[in-house]
Amino acid sequence: MAAPSCRNVKLSKEQKKLLRKQVKAQHILLKHDGIATVSGPTKHLVVANGGLGNGVSRQQLVEVLQQFGTVETLLMLPNKPHAFATYGTIQEAREAYNALNGRDLKTDGNTQPITLYLNFVEEVFSEDVPPLSLPPGLLVIEEVISPEYEKRLLAFIDGSTDTTKENAQRSLKHRRVKHYGYEFRYDNNNVDKDKPLPGGLPEICDDILEQSMEKGYIKFKPDQLTINQYEPGQGIPPHIDTHSPFEDGIICLSLGAETVMDFKHPTGCSVAVMLPRRSLLVMTGESRYLWSHGITPRKFDVVPASEMQKTGTISGDISNLTLNKRGTRTSFTFRKVRMTPCDCAYPDVCDSQISCKCRDPPPSVPSSDDDASKLEHKYVHNVYDEIAGHFSSTRHSPWPKVIEFLEALPDGAFVADVGCGNGKYLGVNKELFMVGCDRSKNLADICRERKFEVFICDGLLVPLRSGICDACISIAVVHHFSTEGRRLSAIKEIVRLLRPGGKGLIYVWAMEQEHNKVKSKYLMERKGKPIQSQKKCTEMPTADECSNINQDTNKMDLACFNQLADVSKDTIDKQNSAKLPVHTNRTSFDSQDLLVPWHLKDGVKRHNKVSPLPPTGSKELAVFHRYYHVFSDGELENLCRSISSIRIVQSYYDQGNWCVIIEKC
Ligand code: MN
Ligand code: ZN
Repeated sequence: MAAPSCRNVKLSKEQKKLLRKQVKAQHILLKHDGIATVSGPTKHLVVANGGLGNGVSRQQLVEVLQQFGTVETLLMLPNKPHAFATYGTIQEAREAYNALNGRDLKTDGNTQPITLYLNFVEEVFSEDVPPLSLPPGLLVIEEVISPEYEKRLLAFIDGSTDTTKENAQRSLKHRRVKHYGYEFRYDNNNVDKDKPLPGGLPEICDDILEQSMEKGYIKFKPDQLTINQYEPGQGIPPHIDTHSPFEDGIICLSLGAETVMDFKHPTGCSVAVMLPRRSLLVMTGESRYLWSHGITPRKFDVVPASEMQKTGTISGDISNLTLNKRGTRTSFTFRKVRMTPCDCAYPDVCDSQISCKCRDPPPSVPSSDDDASKLEHKYVHNVYDEIAGHFSSTRHSPWPKVIEFLEALPDGAFVADVGCGNGKYLGVNKELFMVGCDRSKNLADICRERKFEVFICDGLLVPLRSGICDACISIAVVHHFSTEGRRLSAIKEIVRLLRPGGKGLIYVWAMEQEHNKVKSKYLMERKGKPIQSQKKCTEMPTADECSNINQDTNKMDLACFNQLADVSKDTIDKQNSAKLPVHTNRTSFDSQDLLVPWHLKDGVKRHNKVSPLPPTGSKELAVFHRYYHVFSDGELENLCRSISSIRIVQSYYDQGNWCVIIEKC
């Protein structure tokens, strides 16, 4: 017999409405979560609206579902509005489906009843959520104090409200707060280190502090206490406790009720940590300095259903999660005020170290000769002295066209290499008499070790008699002068050294890193290599993230994020003014005047301390910025043409460089 067609089935108005809603639920499941429902029946059901994210607790759903048989598994995911149930038999699942579809459910988490819609699925969605571990340096110690001590601490804070109403509990938007030892100022997210509050820390805290010192949870005895009281539904926005006011080692006692604290790594990895009543949270190292922490304002937390697993991270086991109603939680947070700037290993989020960077703003394009000279001193001379060893180790192969020029010179010619670097051209043609000079003492020393004739001098003032050279080379030097006048002077100085008929070869870096559709070696070397420059910027919170945080009127300890917001704003300003941009290595140039990062390899010895170390972490690479003016097509030629005593023999492009061979008339 043929199946009855839809026309023959009389559906009531109610049934039609239910069917419509059920189909809608199917669409939402598919669209948002990729869950494909089937016409069934199977043992597995997806219960739309029956999830933790919809305010339904595990207990409530189990009660309803068990009326129709044995629920073998019930999967409830954090924040999802649906749940998955697997019955022992298809028959049980079918009965639940028939009875519960469209059924209203009154829940603790909602004022209005919610309506359940059920659909069959082929199998239960059980993506393995990897078990999360606590952030490094984080500890949660359970039952650290007795219920009796807890009672005394809570009585203490309640009592203090009544007696000292004036300077006692102030109400921040989301919670009540009180300070001891030092006042925490929310306007600048810092403490007044010169103005300790009278009375110090309350005596009642001695026991827990002594215990924490004794057990080695913290190294420094705290001298600042913040007491917070959170009603259900209140929270604290994610933040890192500002580095500069407090030492490493922050401890926090949870009293009255448990809560869930969310920890987040800057890369986005997030870990929810259960803080049971009477437990102590210990934040040291990475968890104190790098991870942000916060409490989401809500009335229910997603927690493990079994009592056994109350502490630690809330994660993987989605067959064992439920909702937990929050109570009033009082936290005692103890910190030690720091008297010296923070020197942690996380400079990107360190207000002590970020402010160092602010005192040393990136340079601008120089407007005077004096500025230019200072810029070159700091961003060329000092940098090459610092990186000399590492730089030299990367510069072994002489460029073929330069070798060709040197090979073509007559035996016995006197040749100067102005800006000779590690001397890689000084030994190319043994029949020449070559001398090298460089502004960097450390590079000159490397040449000397290689038994080359070399001296230290500035390219604008070479201490050689005029007209003494049969030939001169200047390879990758003129682009380090920061005004056009100085670049011209540098070329004129080479011309001065040449005898009439003497030849000069000049190489400068080209703005155009693609010539006749061929990408330069510089761009090609990018292949497979990570781009390191500006990587840090992307790890910082974006300006958007910062403003989101700042929109919250509850600004506790947000100094770090505020600082970062300032930095990002600053970066935007720089792009609009004449500040020199920092180039991203192995990419094409967007500006002719720029800073090119040099990443000093870990383990490579830096030369003497000519300039202070750039602010980077101990394990990170040190990054140095070198000033460059990259030449556009025709620019080098034009400079040379403006010198009347020479003629251009040849002008060409070679491996990302503009090159000229000149001859003195
Ligand atoms: Mn905090
Ligand atoms: Zn720090």
